[in-house]
Amino acid sequence: MRKFTEKKLLVATHNAGKLEEISELLKPYGIECVGAKELDLAVPAETETTFVGNARIKAHAAAKATGLPALSDDSGIEVDCLGGAPGVYTADWAETPNGRDFKMAMEKTWNECEKVGADRPRTARFCSTLVLAWPDGHEEVFEGECQGFLVWPMRGEEGHGYDPMFQPKGSNKTFAEMTHERKNQLSHRADAFRKLTAAFEPA
Ligand code: IMP
Repeated sequence: MRKFTEKKLLVATHNAGKLEEISELLKPYGIECVGAKELDLAVPAETETTFVGNARIKAHAAAKATGLPALSDDSGIEVDCLGGAPGVYTADWAETPNGRDFKMAMEKTWNECEKVGADRPRTARFCSTLVLAWPDGHEEVFEGECQGFLVWPMRGEEGHGYDPMFQPKGSNKTFAEMTHERKNQLSHRADAFRKLTAAFEPA
């Protein structure tokens, strides 16, 4: 596996919540993160149908545009009774003409479960695929997941995206009711990061 030896990492995301989470996860390695938005990078179209496909698009586009190694995360929530939807289209379910509305997306997700009359608990998992890409085209891929179930009504104010309706297995709190520290121990992204950090030298 190729090692990442620098102290600053470009994170190929325009999502402030994700950037904050990734920065916290990499702090113990002495790595400072800078987001694609801060560097005014274009948002590439996510045209693939898998997490890894879209993560590759984002990481390689950022590495090519800047000449720096870049890390991307493509993630989403798979609901079993919906055949894995919204999955790779998780962010799309939140799109409105005025930007993303995750409250609406969570309502839609729960309503779809009601429509199919799914039994409870309504099991689901968050998935995260990380791609670390270098400007010469080399890449390393790391995949993580967190099993749990959907809750309704949504609970909690922390976190981002679908956090208020997801309760990880073994916990009585949703991601949005936990501290960032606790979510960062349990989450799909933390699982993928445990694998990624093998590519970093400890601080
Ligand atoms: P992406 O930017 O295309 O990877 O979009 C993934 C979407 O999945 C995000 O916009 C969030 O809605 C959702 N998502 C991914 N990770 C999390 C998480 O940790 N908590 C809540 N929602 C998440």
